Amino acid sequence: MQNVFEGNVPLNTVLDTVLEGIVMINSRGEILSFNKAATQIFGYQPEEVMGLNVNMLMPEPYHSEHGAYIHNYLETGSRKVIGIGREVSGRRKSGEVFPMELGVNDMIVGEKRVFVGIIRDMTAQKNAENALRGESLRLLAIMNAAPGGIMTVDITGTITSVNTSLLKIFDYEESELIGQKIEVLIPEQYLSKHQQDMSQYMLAGGARQMALGRDVVGKRKDGSVVPLEIGLSKTKLPDGKMQVIAAVQDCSLRKSLESQRERLIQKLAESNTKLERFAYIASHDMLEPIRMITNFSALIKSDYESLLDEEGKEYLDVVINSGGRLKDMVDDLLAYSRLESDNTQMRDFDGQELVSGLLGNLRRLIEERGVEITCDQFPTLYGNPVQLLRLLQNLVANGIKYQPENNVPRIHMGIQDQGDVWQLSVTDNGMGIKPEYLEQVFEPFRRLHSWDQIQGVGLGLSICKKIAENHSGRIWATSTPGRGSVFAFTIRKYALTNQ
Ligand code: ADP
Repeated sequence: MQNVFEGNVPLNTVLDTVLEGIVMINSRGEILSFNKAATQIFGYQPEEVMGLNVNMLMPEPYHSEHGAYIHNYLETGSRKVIGIGREVSGRRKSGEVFPMELGVNDMIVGEKRVFVGIIRDMTAQKNAENALRGESLRLLAIMNAAPGGIMTVDITGTITSVNTSLLKIFDYEESELIGQKIEVLIPEQYLSKHQQDMSQYMLAGGARQMALGRDVVGKRKDGSVVPLEIGLSKTKLPDGKMQVIAAVQDCSLRKSLESQRERLIQKLAESNTKLERFAYIASHDMLEPIRMITNFSALIKSDYESLLDEEGKEYLDVVINSGGRLKDMVDDLLAYSRLESDNTQMRDFDGQELVSGLLGNLRRLIEERGVEITCDQFPTLYGNPVQLLRLLQNLVANGIKYQPENNVPRIHMGIQDQGDVWQLSVTDNGMGIKPEYLEQVFEPFRRLHSWDQIQGVGLGLSICKKIAENHSGRIWATSTPGRGSVFAFTIRKYALTNQ
């Protein structure tokens, strides 16, 4: 050994092959040897440090305290500074302070005490550790920010981590759940089913991700049951063990809203049926007294008119007119409320029947007004022919009715094949409708004209809408005020037999 320190070459050559930095000092702290790895770690060449105090390689507070440590050791033999694998800081030539692992040993060489420091630069490891710690902090933050519950469970069914939302769902503290078996969160009556499901899930090979997304129930700390939706996925941890990640959603609010909505829909349907029944019965029962009024006022007119003065005759005309109007209204109301129950009569029929039926029914009106009416060739259609005749006839009658004075009404009935549906349309050259009213005209009793101007009940287009809907279709209007309107509706084609 003596030879080594005097001659120096062979030991240094050996030390240069070591991957750790090795620095030897004497009891005064002066550097005796500085290997290649130490040069790489600290940035000094051996000749820059030889004979200098080793505290030049240390930042504060080690820099100032180092001499005292050595002194203390020499006095008392206490190994305060000298230890194995301590984590301390070093200082490079550039001034940069870095984390290092330091092991120190002492030995006697030629009656002199020599300290050997073995140094490992921990910068890369520290950086990796910090990155890992940052990543897990980031994951923890994401987990806790998630609005749904998240937990991880190991292969034995033990809960290994939980997020804040999960604790809220089950009303537990984190320390009460970590390390517990998953069964604490499952109501007793579902336990055996759960165990079966879980072992099947763990055994299922292939896909690493599997979301069940099904409705299940969980048990809160107080024993109450909470409806849940659960998504599961499993991953293999670096140690080869499986881990299940469960995403848990509390569905109590959704469930109660759903059942509230269902109850409301049911109530609405019931009250609609009642209302329609009421409208039907009321209008049906009203027909008889209305008929009395119209019949008897007609009798008064024919048998007693001569007994009335001019004013009396005028009053009688008002009664007769109003009675007629009332009858029209009740007839339409009755037709409207009957439509719902009359959609069972669907069948294939010749579309041309619609056209000829309509021309027959409206012949007088067409002749009186000198209407020019044209029509596409109608194919076989599927639906309720009585309802569809009513629909088309209402549209054509409106096209003739809503015309500027002295205009010759021109009406075209069209049909277009649109794949799954037929689109039928009635085009007129009438007064048209302002854009803001195009949707409103389909509402019951919505009229754009006073009765004195143009007579009508205001239910015709509502009836049309209901009929189109009975045929799984829809109805709409387009119009240019002053030039005319197009009313179009669709009806479902049924299978190929309708071609
Ligand atoms: P009614 O004709 O008995 O008033 P409808 O429900 O058939 O009731 O029509 C509602 C309103 O829509 C009518 O009062 C009228 O103002 C308007 N309307 C309907 N068809 C046309 C049309 N072809 N041209 C212009 N306006 C129309």
